[in-house]
Amino acid sequence: MRADAHQKVKPSHLKRTAYLYIRQSTLRQVFENVESTKRQYGLRQHAVALGWQPDQIVVIDTDLGQSGASAADREGFQRLVTEVSLGRAGIVLGLEVSRLARNSMDWHRLLEICALADTLILDEDGVYDPAHFNDRLLLGLKGTMSEAELHVLRARLQGGILNKARRGELFLRPPIGFAYDALGGVVLDPDQQIQHTIRMLFDTFQRTGSAMATVREFRNAGVRFPRRIHSGPGKGDVIWGKLEHSQVLRLLHNPRYAGVFVYGRTRTRKGVDGECRVQHLPREEWHTFLPESHPAYISWQEYERNLKRLRESAQAMGLERRKSPPREGPALLQGLIVCGKCGRRMTLRYHVRQAGLCPEYVCQRKGIENAEPPCQRIPGAEVDRVVSDLLLELVNPVALEVALTVQQELQARLEESDRLRKQHVERARYEAELAQRRYMRVDPENRLVADTLEVDWNQKLRALAEAQEQYEQRREQDRQVFNEEQRAAIMALAQDFPRLWRDPATEDRDRKRMIRLLVEDVTMVRSQEITLHLRFRGGAARTVTLPNPLRSWEGWMTDAEVVDQIDQLLNVQTFGEIAATLNASGFRSGKGQRFTSRYIARIQKQYALRSRFDRLRALGLLTLHEMASALSLHPRTVKTWTAYGLLKAHAYTDKPEHLYELVGPNVPRKAQGVKLSLRRPTASVLPQGSKEVQCEA
Ligand SMILES: [Zn+2]
Repeated sequence: MRADAHQKVKPSHLKRTAYLYIRQSTLRQVFENVESTKRQYGLRQHAVALGWQPDQIVVIDTDLGQSGASAADREGFQRLVTEVSLGRAGIVLGLEVSRLARNSMDWHRLLEICALADTLILDEDGVYDPAHFNDRLLLGLKGTMSEAELHVLRARLQGGILNKARRGELFLRPPIGFAYDALGGVVLDPDQQIQHTIRMLFDTFQRTGSAMATVREFRNAGVRFPRRIHSGPGKGDVIWGKLEHSQVLRLLHNPRYAGVFVYGRTRTRKGVDGECRVQHLPREEWHTFLPESHPAYISWQEYERNLKRLRESAQAMGLERRKSPPREGPALLQGLIVCGKCGRRMTLRYHVRQAGLCPEYVCQRKGIENAEPPCQRIPGAEVDRVVSDLLLELVNPVALEVALTVQQELQARLEESDRLRKQHVERARYEAELAQRRYMRVDPENRLVADTLEVDWNQKLRALAEAQEQYEQRREQDRQVFNEEQRAAIMALAQDFPRLWRDPATEDRDRKRMIRLLVEDVTMVRSQEITLHLRFRGGAARTVTLPNPLRSWEGWMTDAEVVDQIDQLLNVQTFGEIAATLNASGFRSGKGQRFTSRYIARIQKQYALRSRFDRLRALGLLTLHEMASALSLHPRTVKTWTAYGLLKAHAYTDKPEHLYELVGPNVPRKAQGVKLSLRRPTASVLPQGSKEVQCEA
């Protein structure tokens, strides 16, 4: 420790706590680099020598086993920064201070805060005061050096790997079906059974075009798929298990099966939060791409074709596009519809109409997630009718005959599977014999070894018996796939289908089950017209288009002529009167029904026709109260006079409510004693409607 160290430490520092920060970047370092950890704890003595009490020294070692490359998830470092910034730290101790943070940004921030909070920094070389320019320069330099060191280290490692990869010599764990030979070259796995099975997988995919179907065929045929164990006691062994969907996808996506050595298909990026994110790169950006660098199972063209097919079927499949089971409700295609615009599964909505439940297919998943209107909505009734017609047309004896012939061809393939299964039995037998030989060779005196081997032998024998039994069972099942009786039953069903389908007693749910047996999914797009793309089980496809249905209001739109008529009639008649007039002249609404006053009212509103009230007011007619005050009469008198024809009133509703004509110079006067019935009526200034105005007083 240098002499000036003591000069930098002031009583104000000693009053505060000393923080000893300890870190080892990996767990392995924590265990193996004990010496370094000891040295880190040893710094405590330095602090005591400088005047801190032992109980004033706080050790922060929660970051043991965390990398220093970023402070994001190093709780300890964050705590240290907090303590310093709160002014609680008199000094920060670290083995090589630059170890505090290996990221320049974190380090400089800490220096900044230490300078502001008047906190010292101590490492094995001495004490630094970040507030002093010289010390700060030195510390900054140490931080930069430390980061550079990390960079060089990484560059060297990475550079070596990349160079080897560029030459195609980098050792990468070979995928199943490949192995390294004695010279370090990649060859096809010498195990014929593995080779055969992998070839069968590619063949099956080529035939079916779907990873799912490939899995199904393997499972149905009882063919197992190899997998190599990469760690643990059985490292390097091959185990045979059921083929999984993800395995098929992995094989199809792996360019090595096409004989291509590739490296750098992904890029790992560290996010702001310190999380690593793996990004899949497009082929142009792969680091290494060496075609024909080793033997292959498929050609590169075939590899690309496979991926293309996968992408195509991905349009119809996917996580949130799973089918739902048939439910009640008349919509035939429930759970089968895929949106042709965005590829999501469409859902169903029912509307209650006079004719019953009316289905509508809606793509709303994205809309719900992004709070937007549905992607598309398609009225279901017409769609269902078209699909139902199509099914009746397609499910007929001739079509089934073809299907049955195809089935027969499949029979031939069963024999291929049979051969592979037989190999499995033979392998089991070979292993059993091997175990037997091993048991025979052991010295009988060596009881312990002999016992173990005997157990092993027994196990192998059991496995053999099992394999054999399974093989026989499968063989039996395969043979049963076809017989005349079943064939006849299927044909009978084809005859029966139209009758069953049309039978009103058949429930919607059963109809939907039938559809599901026949149809894989239906993709819909609505633009100028509705396009349905049906995929049938077994690969056939059909495209149908149907016109967009009229919108509901278009269906009962009233003739423009009638609207004109109503506009005219509003000058002289109320809604009820107009309805009567129109009905009498033989006009009918867009729905073919008789007009009612409510209907006329709706049309007036919908077509924004001027109301009768406004029309009459525009002619200068007065309301009851205006009239009463104009004539200095009681409103009731106005009504009475109107009833006796002394005043002219015009109804503007069917109640009726009236507006009154202001009479000219001949204003009727109050004439007590003269009978109302004898008085002379006034002449109207307005055109008269079909019905005379009547007014009950
Ligand atoms: Zn959509």
